[in-house]
Amino acid sequence: MRHYPAFLKLDGRTVLVLGHGEVADRKAEPLLAAGAVLRRAERFAPELLEGCALAIGADAPEADLFALSETAQARGIPVNIVDRPELCSFIMPAIIERDDITVAVSTGGAAPVLARMLRQRIEAALPPLIGRVAALGARFQAAVRAKLPALPARRAFLERAFTGRPAALAQAGRQAEAEAAFAEELEAAETTPPGMVHLVGGGPGAPDLLTLRALRLLGEADVIVHDRLVGEAVLAMARRDAERIFVGKSRANHCLPQEEINTLLVRLARQGKRVVRLKGGDPFVFGRGGEEAQELAREGIAFEVVPGVTAALACAAQAGIPLTHRGVARVLTLVTGHTREGRLDLDFAALARPGQTLAIYMGITTMPQLLEGLTTHGLPAHTPAALIEQGGTPAQRELRGPLEQVVEQAPGWVGKGPALLVIGEAVGEAVRMGARHDAAMC
Ligand code: SAH
Repeated sequence: MRHYPAFLKLDGRTVLVLGHGEVADRKAEPLLAAGAVLRRAERFAPELLEGCALAIGADAPEADLFALSETAQARGIPVNIVDRPELCSFIMPAIIERDDITVAVSTGGAAPVLARMLRQRIEAALPPLIGRVAALGARFQAAVRAKLPALPARRAFLERAFTGRPAALAQAGRQAEAEAAFAEELEAAETTPPGMVHLVGGGPGAPDLLTLRALRLLGEADVIVHDRLVGEAVLAMARRDAERIFVGKSRANHCLPQEEINTLLVRLARQGKRVVRLKGGDPFVFGRGGEEAQELAREGIAFEVVPGVTAALACAAQAGIPLTHRGVARVLTLVTGHTREGRLDLDFAALARPGQTLAIYMGITTMPQLLEGLTTHGLPAHTPAALIEQGGTPAQRELRGPLEQVVEQAPGWVGKGPALLVIGEAVGEAVRMGARHDAAMC
């Protein structure tokens, strides 16, 4: 973050706007809307800054703008000279307003045009009367606090009210009915709502591969319990003030044993919290989500499972590998390369059968054993294969070739990210952007 965002209280404060012209006038408008007392001048003089909370310059002679910038900064008064970032101590965001709701967008001064484009998208996404919903919140703030002193209960109630009937009425402009509905729901609100655990698939690591449901739950969670596979980019989509608990988990290096994770989830839910148990990929694909769900069911805790884009799908999509392919692969098998007591305990005869694609999870260290098992049972050593690291993210890397060659080169190739091995004739059918284009043209 290059600039720290903050909203200034300017009601009754003096703001200097130096310069006369269209731009200066445009800058003056939101200042007036915020209740500022404007001091306008065409030429700069240091005494103009006396008692000022803020200063803005535009449409004035160069020397005056320069002097304004220098003097204001020397006195600690925030100053903006329009379109002259080097003379500014703050920048002005693109803003979207709905009554008391203000959304500010900044690209750190790097691309104001992009900020304006984003503003248009947010304008389109924000209902015109959403400000009325905020007003409803303000009107009942004290009453809500009094009735629901515990934060989780308060938050649960407000989230319901802000998406339910009171909000719908407020947005329809029916304020009196909205207030009545709000009061009625507040009256009926439970002071200690039961907690719930959402076992959420976080996908392969790219935030835009989260499902909409996962995104919503991340925005609502009181606490997020996550492990190593979930990267910062996905966590950044969560509510800022949600508590985060890291429970580790990398191969053979579990930070918290599974039983303790299970117990933790139960305890958090019993505190009335909305718990998101965030897992890489899909919770039910080699994610031990099943064990957590069983424990929650045993303890009588409400839970739901939210699917995520599993590594095999994300890797294959981005690598252009059709996991099933007409006439080539009619079976897709997800396999763990994780060993039990050092031994790969797999049905190699079944895995070596032709006409299928294998996606091997957690298989990096056991690839030589896998190769041996598969080839012993008849899979050709030159079967097309791809090792895909950090699949589905901008950092995806691929090592492709005949299986035996990939296995041989892998140790020198693998980096730090998680990697998946895909084996099968379908890997040889991979479509690339250009190739896909050609195909479309024939
Ligand atoms: N639940 C997860 C899998 C967890 S097991 C899912 O559905 O994707 C951990 C293994 O998943 C890693 O060892 C690796 O083989 C694979 N994996 C997870 N994310 C990956 C990614 N972004 N790219 C490649 N492989 C990944």
